[in-house]
Amino acid sequence: MPTTVPLTYEKREEKTIYFTSLLTHMKILVATEKPFAKKAVEGIRQIVEEAGHELLLLEKYTEKAELLAAVADVDALIIRSDKVTAEVIEAARNLKIVVRAGAGYDNVDLEAASARKIVVMNTPGQNSNAVAELALAMMIYMARNRFTPGTGSEIQGKTLAIHAYGNVGRLVGKKGKAMGMKVIAYDPFITDAALFENDGVEQVSSVEELYAKADFLSLHIPATPATKGSIGYEKLMSMPKGATLVNTARKEVIDEEGIKQAMQEREDLKYITDIAPANAAEMEELFGKRFFATPKKQGAETAEANINAGLAAALQIVDFFATGNTRFQVNKW
Ligand code: NAD
Repeated sequence: MPTTVPLTYEKREEKTIYFTSLLTHMKILVATEKPFAKKAVEGIRQIVEEAGHELLLLEKYTEKAELLAAVADVDALIIRSDKVTAEVIEAARNLKIVVRAGAGYDNVDLEAASARKIVVMNTPGQNSNAVAELALAMMIYMARNRFTPGTGSEIQGKTLAIHAYGNVGRLVGKKGKAMGMKVIAYDPFITDAALFENDGVEQVSSVEELYAKADFLSLHIPATPATKGSIGYEKLMSMPKGATLVNTARKEVIDEEGIKQAMQEREDLKYITDIAPANAAEMEELFGKRFFATPKKQGAETAEANINAGLAAALQIVDFFATGNTRFQVNKW
């Protein structure tokens, strides 16, 4: 029979939680509506089992009830875009840690998790390259009129404006520079100007300036209460002639009606997004080649990103149970 050492926490600093016991033979569930690549699951299994834990798999589930049943006695949960609601947390009575294999964690109810002192982590940086490559591809696709006959334009020499200079934003900047673009960026939470300077990127002082100078605006803000619906009519209208908005962040940050209105008023503007907005059919009909939405989220959908994020999630959980490492924790209580 597996032995489970009861969790004992010791608070040393306000934000840091340390374990005082090693947790052995934990049940770790991978719950993925959209499964990881086979190779990623094999790697996760190896990491989990070598550390003496047990791996459980729930893939391609279609009903919430399946997830609720599967989490009932697990200690840890690895998810992708799966929704971990308060109901799921309530059903998972032994849950100690949830790791979202990916960057955005807006699919996890942090408040409900924190109320139960369940650690929530993401795996920052693991799929950034995949997303950054997609952002560049999207720029070229729109510059070439979605590969339809006719004369397009080049991205070399154009201004690439990066809204939020995190893991993905920085890589997009690097790739844009390699393509001969002038790169500018805005991120109010990065106070170290040297970060931009060292990358050869111009740090602009306001979001207004960023949009006003953007031939291509690449969006990388997280979906938070502060950013939801924040990109709309005014920002798009302030962009230069022929500008393109590229969204590989989240659809929730977009004010869809605002974008539609701006594109109706200005026939030169273009918009491409990784995942269809609610009004995608109407946008396609109204704007033709000026609009495109991926039918399913594509950003992190590469074999490499899948494996990187999956393995990182497993390693973080194993380390958490072994040492209490909470380096990538995104919630607090
Ligand atoms: P990150 O955490 O490394 O960077 C986010 C950056 O946003 C940080 O530098 C932060 O300072 C900045 N930021 C936060 N609030 C802001 C605001 N109001 N204005 C300007 N900047 C702000 O995250 P990342 O890995 O770069 O990913 C960015 C986002 O991309 C994720 O939150 C996720 O929603 C999205 N994403 C999408 C896909 C996809 O499949 N399309 C995959 C990965 C990530």
